[in-house]
Amino acid sequence: MAGTALRRRLSWQVAKVSAVTTETPSVRTIMLEVPDWPGHQAGQHLDIRLTDEDGYVAERSYSIASAPGEPVAITVERLDDGEVSPYLTDELRAGDDLELRGPIGGYFTWGPQDGGPLLLLAGGSGVVPLRSILRHRERTGSTVPARLLYSSRTLDDVIYRAELDQPAPGVEIIETLTRHQPPAWTGYARRVDAALLGEVEWPAAEMPLAYVCGPTSFVEAVSQALVQSGYPPQRVKTERFGATGGT
Ligand SMILES: Cc1cc2nc3c(=O)[nH]c(=O)nc-3n(C[C@H](O)[C@H](O)[C@H](O)COP(=O)(O)OP(=O)(O)OC[C@H]3O[C@@H](n4cnc5c(N)ncnc54)[C@H](O)[C@@H]3O)c2cc1C
Repeated sequence: MAGTALRRRLSWQVAKVSAVTTETPSVRTIMLEVPDWPGHQAGQHLDIRLTDEDGYVAERSYSIASAPGEPVAITVERLDDGEVSPYLTDELRAGDDLELRGPIGGYFTWGPQDGGPLLLLAGGSGVVPLRSILRHRERTGSTVPARLLYSSRTLDDVIYRAELDQPAPGVEIIETLTRHQPPAWTGYARRVDAALLGEVEWPAAEMPLAYVCGPTSFVEAVSQALVQSGYPPQRVKTERFGATGGT
């Protein structure tokens, strides 16, 4: 049984794009109908495979943006010089086919049984799996306190802005804009460092569970600072998206 489930989960299948929505000028959410989807956990990702006419294949990983039980969705940021993301954000349309496999990953996941308090730390598109975790927390009726510290370059780069403006009870959203802030901006205006973390993190004595996601440099700096402030390394989960730019 387990073998069958594993094979099905990891085999490629063709999904249909049901909708593409604009999150920011460079970010799209792609809703997918996946015929053979075994269900996923909050925080998991899937792989996308593109094949061109010459048979050249490119594969990339994308976090699942939706909560377990919701239709599968991914949120992709366009890297102008990238191979795969410009196709996903600019070319893909509702009704198109997209090859994928998943869900993948059993480490960067959260369910109500994992408890909290939750400290979620996102740089740029690193907010995607953390959004799945927040939606899952709300949909399951979990009351663990949660705090999201989200770093973006400018207000226009904030993904899921409308959703984050209306957090569920028990959720605090703390934002920092590193490059440009609009007039009357009340959030932070600098990069996430140990001093900023010191102002927003739960005290280590409360045994928080931290999830850090974003560009590799962001994840390394933030996770190291958390451990230095007393968080046990096993309570600091990390997901690196690669060198996808600074936030
Ligand atoms: C587990 C996981 C989850 C992820 N989730 C998301 C997500 O939810 N949303 C999201 O937008 N992204 C996510 N990513 C990142 C995603 O997988 C891709 O890396 C991203 O979309 C860029 O792919 P690309 O093909 O467009 O760019 P690439 O063609 O892979 O290029 C990426 C960057 O590297 C540079 N580069 C490429 N090749 C070289 C080279 N040889 N030398 C130097 N520089 C080079 C390019 O200039 C570009 O800036 C995730 C990654 C992982 C591992």
